[in-house]
Amino acid sequence: MPAQIGVTGLAVMGANLARNFARNGYTVALHNRSIAKTDALLEAHGDEGEFIRTETVEELVASLETPRRVLIMVKAGGPVDSVIDSLVPLLEEGDIIIDGGNSNFVDTRRREAALAEKGLHFVGIGVSGGEEGALLGPSIMPGGSKQSYDALGPMLEKISAKAIDGAPCCAWISTDGAGHFVKMVHNGIEYADMQVIGEAYDLLRSGAGIEPAAQAEIFNEWNKGELASFLIEITAEVLAHTDAKTGKPLVDVIVDSAGQKGTGRWTVQSALDLGSPTSAIAESVFARGLSSQREMRAIGQEVLTGNEIAVELGENFVEDVRQALFASKLVSYAQGLDMLTSAGEEYNWDLKLDEIASLWREGCIIRAALLADITKAYAAEEKPANLLFAPAFSEAIAAAVPAWRRVVSTAVQLGVPVPVFSSSLAYYDGLRRKRLPAALTQGLRDLFGAHTYNRVDAEGSFHTQWSGDK
Ligand code: NAP
Repeated sequence: MPAQIGVTGLAVMGANLARNFARNGYTVALHNRSIAKTDALLEAHGDEGEFIRTETVEELVASLETPRRVLIMVKAGGPVDSVIDSLVPLLEEGDIIIDGGNSNFVDTRRREAALAEKGLHFVGIGVSGGEEGALLGPSIMPGGSKQSYDALGPMLEKISAKAIDGAPCCAWISTDGAGHFVKMVHNGIEYADMQVIGEAYDLLRSGAGIEPAAQAEIFNEWNKGELASFLIEITAEVLAHTDAKTGKPLVDVIVDSAGQKGTGRWTVQSALDLGSPTSAIAESVFARGLSSQREMRAIGQEVLTGNEIAVELGENFVEDVRQALFASKLVSYAQGLDMLTSAGEEYNWDLKLDEIASLWREGCIIRAALLADITKAYAAEEKPANLLFAPAFSEAIAAAVPAWRRVVSTAVQLGVPVPVFSSSLAYYDGLRRKRLPAALTQGLRDLFGAHTYNRVDAEGSFHTQWSGDK
């Protein structure tokens, strides 16, 4: 029997997706550049379903039913292009090449356009949930043509995570690179989510002196309320962990320098291109960058003075921090979703924010109780122009504002950096201010560069003859 799907690239993600397809009753053709990975997979899990072992790309293609579906799960970048090049001469019009790696959406747009000219479908799919998600049910964000989704979507929906209402965490996002774009923004939000958790931890530790094990209990408690999410849950697990070698909290023996693979950076680069104010994600990427400048930080510890101001922490400090975390988290989602709106306009994608929020409810790293409410907010007849304007969220954030202001000012006085708590509050205040100092910026631009300005009381562009025109 021919295979319904072929997977090439059987490292951890490809192998687990292949097993997921097989466990769901599909016949899966397996291929990897080096045959050892194919054999290792068959040896360990060959009894989980129907697999076809292939050694060459020719054998892989020959083993598939038509239209052929080939899922590429190799290292992002050049390897994806070389695998595509090897497949194209072997495929026929209507066949579907799928890239499930973390590819840059710009590459996906380029590849989709080139393959469409040859009559082939190219589908970039964002896959979130790490290796466990790939096996047990990831959140899947497919782009590409609607026609390709008709032939591929039911299979992807079957292997995806299911939300509490049974809905698959997979839906067609929009054309060409839309799936990879949405996955990229998902990762950007993930960066911000992790940064706000880190800021809360830092304040509770260095402000309130709460040790990691005790904080684990606090995070466990928080996980029962409006903050309930995978990342809060695993924060409790990490903070509760004791290092076997030293007996210290594990978090104290981990080097405080955060790595990044690139999707957060891509999100910020893309936000800059779109002119989209995603300060929470940008600050998170920059915070990781600063953490990695270890040599410079070592000098900073010696030469820079803090002049911290002693501050009395109120008895509700822990609850205040929880509310500041919640409000900042809302802002990072609001900014990420606003960026999707801008991208939809720029790239001609009809992005349905309710469907996107819905497929993030399970399977992916940012899965959170909050996403059910975000889904509802965007499913409403009248879509909010910004998530924070949806009644449920404007009320929730209003309730958190007093605590948020107290926490940010306390952090500033204590000298604890809270770039996302504070920049999110600035974004919130910027959104609600009647007048912004941008009026002065426009005046300055007109003075030094005759860039003109608009007036509040008349249509058109104006230029002033400044006395000291430069
Ligand atoms: P990976 O380490 O990114 O890549 C290893 C795989 O790529 C191997 O199968 C390797 O084949 C193949 N490969 C590398 N260069 C190749 C080339 N020039 N031609 C053909 N094959 C080549 O694997 P991964 O961690 O499973 O990730 C796969 C993709 O999923 C990546 O884009 C990754 O960013 C994305 N992703 C990963 C995660 C995660 O949690 N790991 C989560 C979501 C998405 P050989 O065995 O022959 O070397």
